[in-house]
Amino acid sequence: MTQTIKADLHCHSYYSDGTLSPTEVLRLAAENEVQMLALTDHDSTQGLAEAQKNADKLGIQLIPGVEISVTWQDNSNVNHVIHIVGLNIDANNSVLQNGLSENCLARSVRSEKIIKALQEIEIDIQAAVDEQIPEGGLITRTHIARALIAEGYAKNMDKAFKKYLGKGKRAYVSGQWASLEQAVSWIQQAGGVAVIAHPMRYRMNATRLDALVQDFKAIGGEALEVVTATQDVNQTARCVQLTKQYDLYASTGSDFHSPQQLWAMLGRCPALPSTVTPIWQVFS
Ligand code: AMP
Ligand code: MN
Ligand code: MN
Ligand code: MN
Repeated sequence: MTQTIKADLHCHSYYSDGTLSPTEVLRLAAENEVQMLALTDHDSTQGLAEAQKNADKLGIQLIPGVEISVTWQDNSNVNHVIHIVGLNIDANNSVLQNGLSENCLARSVRSEKIIKALQEIEIDIQAAVDEQIPEGGLITRTHIARALIAEGYAKNMDKAFKKYLGKGKRAYVSGQWASLEQAVSWIQQAGGVAVIAHPMRYRMNATRLDALVQDFKAIGGEALEVVTATQDVNQTARCVQLTKQYDLYASTGSDFHSPQQLWAMLGRCPALPSTVTPIWQVFS
């Protein structure tokens, strides 16, 4: 079956590390002719009510979503940070909200450590971070990267991660995220479906990625993000193959954060390949 709906099921507002308000995200979605949109902020559902209001006005189908940070331990006990997107969730579900607040607590603990590690090398960006965070908002490494750029310590996002914030760099601090089982279970208890976000971005070898998808399927995970903005046709083909091997639905999403990042524009992902089963078949 071919993709008949123009869908973008992964994007961010300023309630996590996007630059736009939910109202602005929805306006851009309408401009780009998106018919079905999921707002999937990191560990937060705070933007969903505002998004829903605007979706109703614009005639866009809003799928309430979230992107949960997970620490997955492989069979050699090596930890990997994985992102699990929850789609069609009930944001009022208390199990989900309690889970998300655990991850948010881990975020504040980690961000304090990162800011301290930077202070130890004479970089003070506390104020430049604070001024970006809205009431009740959470801190991501993206905010810290933007502060490093604003204060002249890095030329761009990529450099900020390569120099300071990426794994193994001077100010890298690992986060104490949810387990894969917890994230999938919180999403499902909130009536949603669980999706492995951008599977090719974890830079895992084929065996490791296979093990991740196998674990995910074994605990009841439903879908893979087969199409995302930053991958080539071979990587998409590999994702298609994994959906077949593990009998999973396929999702699609730009992972939009900001209109400045032209390579991940809202609603501009290629269509889902015709051979997969789109995740929206399970949305009522
Ligand atoms: P966190 O969840 O706080 O660890 O932050 C992760 C976020 O940082 C991701 O969701 C991306 O939006 C962003 N990010 C990670 N690596 C890079 C990179 N190399 N360049 C730009 N943004 C990045
Ligand atoms: Mn992000
Ligand atoms: Mn992600
Ligand atoms: Mn994302």
